Order: sequence, then structure tokens, then C-alpha cells
Amino acid sequence: MKPMLIGGEWVTTSHGVENINPSDISDVVDIYAQAGRAETQQAIAAAQAAAPQWALSGPQERHDILHRAGDEILARKQELGELLAREEGKVLPEAIAEVQRAGQIFLFFAAEALRQRGEIVASVRPGVGVEITREPVGVVGIIAPWNFPIAIPAWKIAPALCYGNAVVFKPAELVPGSAWALADILHRAGVPAGVFNLVIGAGSVVGQTMLDDERIDAITFTGSQATGTRVASASLPFMRKIQLEMGGKNPLVVLDDADLDLAVQCAVDGAFFSTGQRCTASSRLVVTQGIHDRFVSAVAERLASLRVGHALDAATHIGPVADAAQLAQDLDYIAIARSQGAHLRQGGELVRRETEGYFLSPALLTETLPAMRINCEEVFGPVASVIRVRDYEEALFVANDTEFGLSAGICTTSLKYANDFKRKSQAGMVMVNLPTAGVDYHVPFGGRKASSHGSREQGSHAAEFFTIVKTAYTAA
Ligand code: NAD
Repeated sequence: MKPMLIGGEWVTTSHGVENINPSDISDVVDIYAQAGRAETQQAIAAAQAAAPQWALSGPQERHDILHRAGDEILARKQELGELLAREEGKVLPEAIAEVQRAGQIFLFFAAEALRQRGEIVASVRPGVGVEITREPVGVVGIIAPWNFPIAIPAWKIAPALCYGNAVVFKPAELVPGSAWALADILHRAGVPAGVFNLVIGAGSVVGQTMLDDERIDAITFTGSQATGTRVASASLPFMRKIQLEMGGKNPLVVLDDADLDLAVQCAVDGAFFSTGQRCTASSRLVVTQGIHDRFVSAVAERLASLRVGHALDAATHIGPVADAAQLAQDLDYIAIARSQGAHLRQGGELVRRETEGYFLSPALLTETLPAMRINCEEVFGPVASVIRVRDYEEALFVANDTEFGLSAGICTTSLKYANDFKRKSQAGMVMVNLPTAGVDYHVPFGGRKASSHGSREQGSHAAEFFTIVKTAYTAA
């Protein structure tokens, strides 16, 4: 049984939970010791004890630790990619790419550790100096979802440590394997005892204990809107800093003047790769009437040619859905859409393979209307719906007509429409002739409206969340 990391020690408990491979439910990846309230509180205490010393650590020490971790992740990307594919179901090339991204993120923040600087500003008062500096927040709680088991933890843990915070990390229940591997790497990379703690367990126990503990100064959370709302309301009484990244219902607009092949590629990649289990997935395809029928036929044809199967099989394009509950949710939404008048044009069926897994063929729903539930609620699976619109103006309106605002895309050869969409899209990230999913690791990531709350993640903008600004005045 794999232990958790608390105060620099590997700690085990009497209760372990199996990590099941969604491509083959007879395959147990490993068993992970589960934390309860007591272990979670120990981890928080360890972080609190270690935080002051780590806050005083120099940039070289932080750089070297993050660099060692990044180097090891990159060197082991094949092996860690296989683990990720096995526990989460992402196809191997995508899993390896995710591991690579995690390694790059650690190297980025290793360099950022050397670039911490402040400002000296002239005072409006003669004989007074003003310095503006950034200080660590203290103890940061990290609560992560299952769909990016190593990249999301990396883009929270690396900046937290880079800017001098101590960490209590709680991964999602479905993916303890990648989290454990990351903790092992960080431990051996030389993170001082207590500065980084891993607690594995249920959200309702470990996560809730973190929310309820006032010793946690800041929480960075990625997951569902429902849990994000709990994080916000539990944090308010403590005036705790929060950063929430939640769901999406991301539109990909396809205009009559689009390059058809490119638009199909963007739609298929954005909506269905990673089994559609991306917060930035193009779940709404908003298509103008002149290209609609050709686009739908081409997407359906392309989907029919994709092979769904075991994530480690080289012939597989789309891996399994992450677990039985997510599969049931996907099937429910397809049924709801059909009951509200949508046409299931392609896929949406359970697929049998040699191994027993949660295989679902990518589903394309057509003739949908913006107000249908399929266009309002996040499915988080290989399911996309097509909304037919008259022209660009209606497409823009429909694209923005959602409570979410994470990512939005447009396929067009018109500079005028591309620029207008970049300006008027109510999303945190806008893509022109690119899938709505797939972002760089060195620039800000995040959304608007119900998709996000708080400052941006990633790139140098991450400093905003993981530090507090201090303004110091000195009389000369
Ligand atoms: P989830 O909200 O069910 O779980 C997220 C995390 O919260 C898990 O670690 C879980 O254990 C924990 N949790 C659950 N209950 C808790 C509680 N009471 N207190 C504290 N923690 C608790 O989400 P999920 O199913 O793991 O992930 C899917 C969701 O994540 C989707 O909505 C997706 O859009 C979103 N997501 C968003 C982004 C983004 O950057 N915007 C990225 C990836 C995923």
C-alpha cells in the first residue's frame, strides 16, 4: 500500500483504496493509504510549522529543488505517462504530453524563482522611500480534479513552492498514482520536511477538513462548480484567499467562410480528444447555416473512423471515460438531449473491447437549441452538440449565451470576424482557427463568469495568487 507524505515522513493508515484502470477494471494500479481528518490536520500542522523557514529560503534553493523535480519528470515521461494513462484513461501519447507539460512547468517556475523582484517607487513625500515587494501567502491548500492528474497539480504546486509557500496537496480520488509519483519526486528533490505534504482521500473528508481549517491561508481549487462554491463559502469566514477553476460549456464557432478541413480538425480535437474530459472541451459547436450540413457530415464521418479502446493500445484514438459514474452521466445527458428533440447523429454507444472498461463512442448531437440542457450544463465526456445559426452575429450571441466563460473558439478566414470575436467573446481564453482546448504552459490560464474566480493560474501571472504584496515606506 502506498503511503502519504506528512511532515517529511511517509505515513500509512489502516484503510487503503484501490486505484482502478478505467480501460480494464480488473487491473488494479495500486492501493493507496487513505487520510482521515486526523492525518489531514497533521499535514496542515506540518505545513504551518515549516512555512516560516521556507518563506525565508533563498531563490537558489527553490530553483534547484524545482529544477531537479522538473528534470526527473521529463526524464521519466514515458513511465509516468503509462501510469497516467492506466489510472485516468487518457491515450498514451496524450498522457506522455501531459507529463512533459508538468516537467516544463516545474522548469518554468524554477527559473521564476530566480526572477523575483520588487519595485522602488518615488514617494510623493520628500525624504520618503517606497518599496513594493511580494511575500509568500503561507500555507496553501491544493485541491485538484482527476482529468489532468499531473499537469494541474504541477501548475499549482510549482508556483506555490516557487513563491515560498508550504503546501497541503489533496489529489482527486480517481488519480492518486500520479500524485504519489509527484510527491516522491519532490521529496527526493529536496523539499524540506513539512513544506510539501500529500494527503490522499475523499473530498468529503480530506477536502472538507482542509476547507474547515483556518490554518490554511489560501486554497487553489480546480474541479466542479458545486465543489468550487463550497470552497468559496467555507473560505469566506476566514477571509482566506481563493482561486477557483471550474466548468465550461465552451463554444467553437464555425463560419461559412471557414476552411472546412481545419474546422473539422478543431472540432474533433477540441470536443473529443482526452475523451472530451477537458474543462476547455468544445462541447458546443455553433455553425452558420451555409456550412452546417457539410461540417456535420464531415465531423460524423471523422468520428466514425476513430477507434475507442484501451488507453495503452497504440491503435486507440479515444480512451475510456474515467469511471462508471462519469459514464452514467454521459449517457444520461445524451438521453436528455434526445428527449428534448436533439438528433443523435453519430456515436453515443457503449463499445465492447477485449477488456472490460468504460468505453463510449464519441457522440455528436445535432438539431439542438441553445436553451436545451445539453447546451447549458457541462457533460464532461465525449459528447458535443451542434447549434445551427444564421450568421456571425447570431453565432457570437449564442457563444456568449452561457453562464460559463472558460474558452471559446472561432474557425473563419475573415480577419474582421476573427478580430471581432477576440474582442467580444466573454471567455478567458479565445482561439482563432485552433481547438478550444490545448494551451501553452507559460501564459495565463483561466476563465470568466461561472468558470473561474480569483486571479489567473500559470505563467508569471501565477504570482498574483501565491504572493501578497507589501508596500514599505522608509524615511530617509
Ligand atoms: P469535483 O469538484 O468533484 O472534485 C474536485 C476535487 O474536489 C477533488 O479532489 C475532490 O475530492 C474535491 N472535493 C470534493 N468534495 C469536496 C469537499 N466537500 N470539500 C473539499 N474538496 C472536495 O470535480 P472533478 O469531477 O474531480 O473534476 C471535474 C470538474 O473539474 C469539471 O467540472 C471540470 O470542468 C473541472 N475542471 C476545470 C478546469 C479549469 O481549469 N477550469 C480544469 C480541469 C477540470
